[in-house]
Amino acid sequence: MSIVYLIIPCYNEEEVLPETSKRLLEKIGSLIKEGLISSKSRIVFVNDGSKDKTWEMITQLSKEHDEISGIKLAHNRGHQNALLAGLMTVREHCDCAISLDADLQDDINAIDEFVKKYHEGCDVVYGVRNSREKDSFFKRSTALGFYKLMKVLGVECVYNHADYRLMSKRALDALSEYKEVNLFLRGIVPLIGFRSDYVYYYRNERFAGESKYPFKKMLAFALEGITSFSVKPLRIISTLGVVISMLSVLGLLYAIISKLFGSTVPGWTAIVASIWLLGGIQLFCLGVCGEYIGKIYSEIKGRPRFLIETFLNKE
Ligand code: UDP
Ligand code: MG
Repeated sequence: MSIVYLIIPCYNEEEVLPETSKRLLEKIGSLIKEGLISSKSRIVFVNDGSKDKTWEMITQLSKEHDEISGIKLAHNRGHQNALLAGLMTVREHCDCAISLDADLQDDINAIDEFVKKYHEGCDVVYGVRNSREKDSFFKRSTALGFYKLMKVLGVECVYNHADYRLMSKRALDALSEYKEVNLFLRGIVPLIGFRSDYVYYYRNERFAGESKYPFKKMLAFALEGITSFSVKPLRIISTLGVVISMLSVLGLLYAIISKLFGSTVPGWTAIVASIWLLGGIQLFCLGVCGEYIGKIYSEIKGRPRFLIETFLNKE
């Protein structure tokens, strides 16, 4: 039977922890009873440098319950890093790991489906919310805009999937090959490949405490996603340079014709023509530099160039 670890990053979550741990204990208890998962399965809380009593509570919970473990990060490193820390720490001990938020906004009853899909042979199972009714209009529309933008920029992202997902040990090992510091897990996991599937669920409101993702953090997260995965913004600069250079040739013609017909003040033609032409050339040169920076950027990330899924050795 497979050992399943639940990884829960926690930042100042003292208000939700008692309820969360209670519900999760019930959940894995019943999964173990049904024979779906091994009794060695665990709930792992990752304390992301909380300033409140979160860690004390995790310590206490792990003393009371064998199924609960805790990992304490030395600083607040943000949700994505806390999640990665948890996943990388447990991958030796489990067959698969499921990441979820401490506020249990993501329906934990979907875990049954996750595990079933894993048993059917999936290495990655994405939790996808089937509606965003409970989110504010603002969050809904900015999220939609973000996914659309990512698509335009050529980044493969699972629409309406946050970080609620199951990953097999093999997928976690593959994830560990991605050495980048600017972490946007939602973009990396689809890159890994392997067999994957979706599970749809209903997303609730936070039952206690406040969102740890204020607008500023959301924006930073979105920017991280774009700049960690796409060098298209750099290419836009080169394109703009070429377009403006071409326009400037037309402008030049216009300026010369105006001069020939004598409808200009002296000096105007030269100034206007050079502003456009130089502007175009400058943008184009910036774009060329950008192209090389883009290359350096992809090299420096040191992502694996391939991951082997199966090796049929006929010997
Ligand atoms: N979180 C974290 N470190 C941070 C911010 C958030 O570990 O710096 C955790 C938080 O404890 C929660 C999860 O990330 O378990 C998602 O945060 P939240 O529910 O506040 O985000 P929202 O659902 O509002 O997007
Ligand atoms: Mg939340």
